[in-house]
Amino acid sequence: MSEEYDAGPVAALRRIAFLLERGREDTYKVKAFRKAAAAILPLPEEEVRRAVADDTLTKVPGVGASSAAVIASAVRGELPERLARAEREHGGPLVADGADLLATLRGDLHSHSDWSDGGSPIEEMAFTAMELGREYQVLTDHSPRLTVAHGLSAERLARQLDVVDAVNRHLAAAGGGFTLLKGIEVDILDDGSLDQTDEMLARLEVRVASVHSKLAMDADAMTRRMVAAVANPFTNVLGHCTGRLVTGGRGTRKESQFDARAVFEACVEHDVAVEINSRPERRDPPTRLLELARDVGCLFSIDTDAHAPGQLDFLAYGAERAAAAGIGPERIVNTWPKDRLLAWANR
Ligand SMILES: [Zn+2]
Ligand SMILES: [Zn+2]
Repeated sequence: MSEEYDAGPVAALRRIAFLLERGREDTYKVKAFRKAAAAILPLPEEEVRRAVADDTLTKVPGVGASSAAVIASAVRGELPERLARAEREHGGPLVADGADLLATLRGDLHSHSDWSDGGSPIEEMAFTAMELGREYQVLTDHSPRLTVAHGLSAERLARQLDVVDAVNRHLAAAGGGFTLLKGIEVDILDDGSLDQTDEMLARLEVRVASVHSKLAMDADAMTRRMVAAVANPFTNVLGHCTGRLVTGGRGTRKESQFDARAVFEACVEHDVAVEINSRPERRDPPTRLLELARDVGCLFSIDTDAHAPGQLDFLAYGAERAAAAGIGPERIVNTWPKDRLLAWANR
């Protein structure tokens, strides 16, 4: 006898995809469930029921055998076996510690959609952030020069801002008090300038500045570059400061070399938060630099840098590291309510 389930087939498929992403499973598996959810979402409920009864679900373009089994169970009001397994395997706590600090986080200042190198549409990311109980999520797609990640030109970014407005109108109608904030992960160019026009940067609400190129430049030049970026009045958050990769599909990469004390002191002087990047493959800054930034007196932002909805839950990884370093919630800008955050970011 299977357990009852009444959330319907789309919710079941989305939840499986979320859990697999959260558990860092292969993306091709995840994609199949998201594709099936998108395929049946516009269909009348009666049509889905009939396809289950006739055993013709797999004839719907985008629905494969395993998704069809999930849909059939959900339509019959039974907990799909694949969902039960995903909950068992990936539904538990991500980390052992840091739960108290995690509970104080109201939002996330760094995430990507399929407008740049993320895997999901803006509305799917926003909807998932809302489901996770966030007060705000900042959409921070890449800037023009990062062509490998489909960085947004000023024109595309301007269009994206209209989409964000539309998503917010839609979500406000659903209630809940969630806001998708307008942001960018802007490239720090070789000379420390930012890779977007001042006009567009001024239209945004939160700006994360990160180094993505020439990560191996010599320490003096890298220090000057990062200090210049931090001194830019538009910069709010210094993203993944060392650029290191410690694990994962892209392999490993050494930390960039720079005078960390000078960079962190510039962050204090210019009221810029140092990002604690939660991605398991980044864990940036490394612990010794996290503790240095703490001692220098920096503000912090614990960010997911999510490229898929399931990764929006990765805040737990960053919270665990911040708690271990003894960094309290008052110094973490994403514990602040939205209005305080926006006042700080647009002073
Ligand atoms: Zn980045
Ligand atoms: Zn990013």
